[in-house]
Amino acid sequence: MSYRRKLFTYGKMNDSAGTEQLFLLAMKENLHCHYKNSEEYRRILDARGFSIRQLETIEDLHKIPALTTLFIKSHQLFSVPSRKIITKATSSGTNGRKSVVGLDIQSGYYALRVVLTSFFHYKLFSIRPTNYIILGYEPHSSNKISTAKSARGLAMIAPARHKEYALKYTKNGYELNQEGIIEAILRYSKQRSPVRFIGFPSYMYFLLKTLQEKNIKVKLPPKSKVFFGGGWKQFFAESIEKKDLYKMVEEILGVPKEDCMDFFGAVEHPVLYCECPNHHFHIPVYSRVIIRDSKTLQPVEFGQVGLVNLISPLISSMPFSSLITDDLGVMFDGSKCGCGITTPFVELLGRVGVQNLKTCSVNAEELLGGVSH
Ligand SMILES: [Zn+2]
Repeated sequence: MSYRRKLFTYGKMNDSAGTEQLFLLAMKENLHCHYKNSEEYRRILDARGFSIRQLETIEDLHKIPALTTLFIKSHQLFSVPSRKIITKATSSGTNGRKSVVGLDIQSGYYALRVVLTSFFHYKLFSIRPTNYIILGYEPHSSNKISTAKSARGLAMIAPARHKEYALKYTKNGYELNQEGIIEAILRYSKQRSPVRFIGFPSYMYFLLKTLQEKNIKVKLPPKSKVFFGGGWKQFFAESIEKKDLYKMVEEILGVPKEDCMDFFGAVEHPVLYCECPNHHFHIPVYSRVIIRDSKTLQPVEFGQVGLVNLISPLISSMPFSSLITDDLGVMFDGSKCGCGITTPFVELLGRVGVQNLKTCSVNAEELLGGVSH
């Protein structure tokens, strides 16, 4: 069995200490594959004087020359022929700056395993029929944005009784369905089935503000949940802390903060990070994270802010083993959380530079703002 397979079928998703050697071996296996099969990546590693032999312990992972997300938006690097790509996803980039990521069958399978293991771990599967409020796009063949796909995945882990979308596909393209959402919330609150919300934090914030303005408060049935995803950064015109948004959810929808859960992941790094009960993103066994000084790119200590470097051997079709994102983040000692998980946790603080602040969430904000004023 390959080391990658062993790692991605490893059941204990928070046992980073017990998988250090396995992670290192899986990384080496993955790097060998990209070095052999991607000419551009081989040139990059050679030009930086990197040899896979330099990876002797888990502490050496920072030595892998990392690609930046900016670079991969303008360069398509593949380690397999195009006929082996089974699924393509597009990241929600800004002003046409998107990265297209193609997964081969093995990478797609591992990405799915990671998601399912995480959902099992956090007990998100349910057999109870559930009403959904999806604060995102109604599925349509014209929409290949990955966040639409992940919303669809999240809406499958409990059987749907009814689904209402914030952005409905009409003959004029996508249109905001604010009235439909509010009606659905009122209707669902009178039923016994739990409700699940899925969507960008910024969408949720606008919805809650609208409900507040209309003096609408409900108590949704027990076991209702609010899932966030698609990025929690400082995209709001009125910036709001995560804990304040969870408080609004509790006050307006009657869903306690224990039932609010944020996720993050990236198309280029399809490891799912889920919030623990104390609302922290612990790093699962499938990846490692290094925070780097934004000028020197040297790794920094726990508690210091820097660029987020995501490392995982998950993808074999494209050489994204080590990626430096344009997100700023800070990492903490896991034992400080108190939830029982001891792997470090990472907090995302937003993007580097004002110019880069725009993403799909901003577009969502523009769209919502444009319709309601
Ligand atoms: Zn925790």
